Amino acid sequence: MTFHTASQTIDGALHIDARTLTDALDFIDYQDDILHIDGVSSDTLVQTYGTPLYVYSKNALLANYTAYVESFSALNDVQICYAVKANSNLAVLATLAKAGAGFDIVSVGELSRVLKAGGDAGRVVYSGVGKTASDIKVALEAGIGCFNVEALSELDTINAVAQTLGKTAPIALRINPDVDAKTHPYISTGMKDNKFGIAHDVAVSAYEYAKGLANIEIVGIDCHIGSQLTEVKPFVDALDKVIELIDELDARGIRLKHIDLGGGLGVRYIDENPASVHEFAEALLPKLLALQAKYGLGLHLEPGRNIAANAGVLLTKVDVLKPTEHKNFAIMDASMSELIRPALYESVMAIIPTKPNHTADVATWDIVGTVCESSDFLGKDRALALQVGDVLAITGAGAYGFTMASNYNTRPRPCEVMADGGLHRVVRVRETLEDLWRGESI
Ligand SMILES: *Cc1c(COP(=O)(O)O)cnc(C)c1O
Repeated sequence: MTFHTASQTIDGALHIDARTLTDALDFIDYQDDILHIDGVSSDTLVQTYGTPLYVYSKNALLANYTAYVESFSALNDVQICYAVKANSNLAVLATLAKAGAGFDIVSVGELSRVLKAGGDAGRVVYSGVGKTASDIKVALEAGIGCFNVEALSELDTINAVAQTLGKTAPIALRINPDVDAKTHPYISTGMKDNKFGIAHDVAVSAYEYAKGLANIEIVGIDCHIGSQLTEVKPFVDALDKVIELIDELDARGIRLKHIDLGGGLGVRYIDENPASVHEFAEALLPKLLALQAKYGLGLHLEPGRNIAANAGVLLTKVDVLKPTEHKNFAIMDASMSELIRPALYESVMAIIPTKPNHTADVATWDIVGTVCESSDFLGKDRALALQVGDVLAITGAGAYGFTMASNYNTRPRPCEVMADGGLHRVVRVRETLEDLWRGESI
């Protein structure tokens, strides 16, 4: 089934049917012609907090998390470890921690956020390609659930730090299964030429090596092949590769407690048709149930984008309209500093009105920021009826939005708000100018 959210106008502009798009989103909809996020009017939000503004739906976050728990409920032992880097706001983490989520972290900073938000260190997996001895010490002292190890030298460092602390470090090896995730090259991580993981053909010897280290406890096997994957086949291929290894490890007397299949399931930004969490589970469950029966293996997953992206929008106001001979530019109060996905990955994100403009004519606009870079665009060639002062919503902005925001061009990062069934509260205040030079001196 294809999903018709987008069409091209005669001059090739992208027209997005905002109704069709929002009809397919949970907790983001039009009520009386005004966009609402989790029951809160965008008008109210803009008047209360100003723009640019990130708004998250608490109920969408919970629904997206629960979809994983329910879809994999046939297994006895499942840990959904939300990937913190997608959206690390404390309120987002606290919402998921309270719902029972574990977390996937890639830094000690993220670990600190999880603990601050009330998360349980024992349900945290620590991923990442370059962990230092001091990172490892902090994680061990906190009682981390598992290190996902990416290199033999990392095993040595973990072993040494664990020895000094008189502890045993739980580890899984992150295997690079060499499968094509069929996604953007910048977010594909499971192929031979990526920096991530331990090559499949040396994995068994790496486990043998780990087994010989006194302060290491082997608990699992891990892979993460990329992000924004829309098909299930690469996941199934990766699982098959990992199962080969699990069998071989078992034959050598190396027993594991869990298999971690990473994150990466994609979302619909415009009219993509990613597999649903349910379809993803259907494709994997027969093999996972067999692993449970044969080896008692539990499952870890590390979804980030799939939980957070469509739970958030970025609201941004048209500041200047600048028609030129070749192009029309709508200059917004958000830019690549606030939302870098279009500039960094050439991502096409939906940009929709918060209210229909019945006065202006539809024209083709490049939706851009004020940053001094030609890559500073939020959307290109969009068919929209615009006037200065209109507020647009960029959907799908709940993941890799605020967490990738910067202060480039000395711009304060936006306010973040959580909406919850008609209520709304600030979960991060807008940065002030003083915040921008904190710690600096002349
Ligand atoms: C980024 C990342 C994830 C989350 O990826 P999504 O595409 O957001 O689901 C999970 N695991 C690891 C190791 C990652 O680096």
